Amino acid sequence: MIPNNLTIYNSMSRCKELFEPLHPGRVGMYVCGPTVYGDGHLGHARPAITFDILFRYLTHLGYKVRYVRNITDVGHLEHDADDGEDKVAKKARLEQLEPMEVVQFYLNRYHQAMDALNVLPPSIEPHASGHIIEQIEYIKTILDAGYAYVSEGSVYFDVPKFNRDHGYGKLSGRNIDELLATTRELDGQSQKRNPADFALWKKAAPEHIMHWPSPWSEGFPGWHLECSTMGEKYLGAQFDIHGGGMDLKFPHHECEIAQSVAHNGQPTVHYWMHNNMITINGKKMGKSLGNFITLEEFFTGSHPLLAQPYSPMTIRFFILQAHYRGTVDFSNDALQGAEAALKRMLEGWKRLRDLKPADQSTVAETVSTLRQRCYEAMDDDLNTPVLIAHLFDACRVINQINDGNATATQADLDELRSVFSTFLGDILGIRLDDAQGGESSMKPYEEAVDLLLQIRKDAKANKDWATSDKIRDALAAIGFSVKDTKDGGFEWSLK
Ligand code: ZN
Repeated sequence: MIPNNLTIYNSMSRCKELFEPLHPGRVGMYVCGPTVYGDGHLGHARPAITFDILFRYLTHLGYKVRYVRNITDVGHLEHDADDGEDKVAKKARLEQLEPMEVVQFYLNRYHQAMDALNVLPPSIEPHASGHIIEQIEYIKTILDAGYAYVSEGSVYFDVPKFNRDHGYGKLSGRNIDELLATTRELDGQSQKRNPADFALWKKAAPEHIMHWPSPWSEGFPGWHLECSTMGEKYLGAQFDIHGGGMDLKFPHHECEIAQSVAHNGQPTVHYWMHNNMITINGKKMGKSLGNFITLEEFFTGSHPLLAQPYSPMTIRFFILQAHYRGTVDFSNDALQGAEAALKRMLEGWKRLRDLKPADQSTVAETVSTLRQRCYEAMDDDLNTPVLIAHLFDACRVINQINDGNATATQADLDELRSVFSTFLGDILGIRLDDAQGGESSMKPYEEAVDLLLQIRKDAKANKDWATSDKIRDALAAIGFSVKDTKDGGFEWSLK
């Protein structure tokens, strides 16, 4: 039996009940990380951002979270090169680079993209290549339990036997009988007893770049094995959450479940969480379709399908505007919409910082329920689109106060500021010092513009129209839009 594996993750308070008996105050989460051959793309951004939100939220709730995200760096290099897709892997061989140089090159770029997206680093980022001994030991226990067999130097998991004893395919709802029946016909002279069997250890072909000694052959571990092994090593034989993209449900996560039950006699994971996929202009992303856009290309706007560059915060905000279980379609229109929405939100935050308190509040009711509504949205299966809608409600209130159509007390303003910095900043991970979509290093420049406008204001007060106009025109020529506000102050933005 696989208890809880199919339970829908829909309530943080329910999770609280379920985590507490196991290990009070602590949560263990494992997320399938990237295969680091090739530059980071949108497919990497979505799970990273989804589970970053979960990591941030659980941490905010007071849990001590151990977040493990693996690096897949064995078993795929040669395969990609043979497909002719990964030119750099080929280059590594031709130029006699260490495979680890290639891994590190892409890993550095992945980390840079994640930093730009404000994705927090996980607690542990184990490499599959650094856990070969553990994987070999894990295979031995599965062989001892009778759920694997050796064939010509490779080791395969016996899926039909596991299916008879425990059931295979429960997480994805696949019908294993159907699966066995349809794949059997396709099978040629395989080393496997059954086409559904999967490799725990593969004997390396002579041209395979990365291989290690084992009791069975010089080879490398199967892909599914690294997650079972490293998850258990760092989070224990039972842990709370395992995440990844929906495309990993089958076969990857089914195989992980089978391995852990064969190894431990019971499943390891309490909750499985899967983010949905992304499409580009309604199509699946793929190298052959010409719509494979890297994160770097999004940030610089250098791909022909992109009308302009999109800042990392725009990408992040766009992904969070959809629920993680829903699909997200990237298009220039949708991204421009997200960019404008984020700008409105950050302008709201910027105005909020400058609002002056009044003796009476006309927005007390909205303010008093805001925090609770934000928590309820997050507790409801991490409903970030609803959370964002609540924050836009707050923006409307801020604009009313700013326009003189509403007033708020100091306590209400403090509460608004606290909710914004907690939910928009800490939990959604939007950089709040990024009010113009630039970097935090823009702050001194913003202050310089404020200073110029203050000089203009003083000039106007002294009826020095020449100086006042000169500053206004010069700023307009650079691209600033300046608006005088009712209270005699000013607002500016970069067009
Ligand atoms: Zn995995």
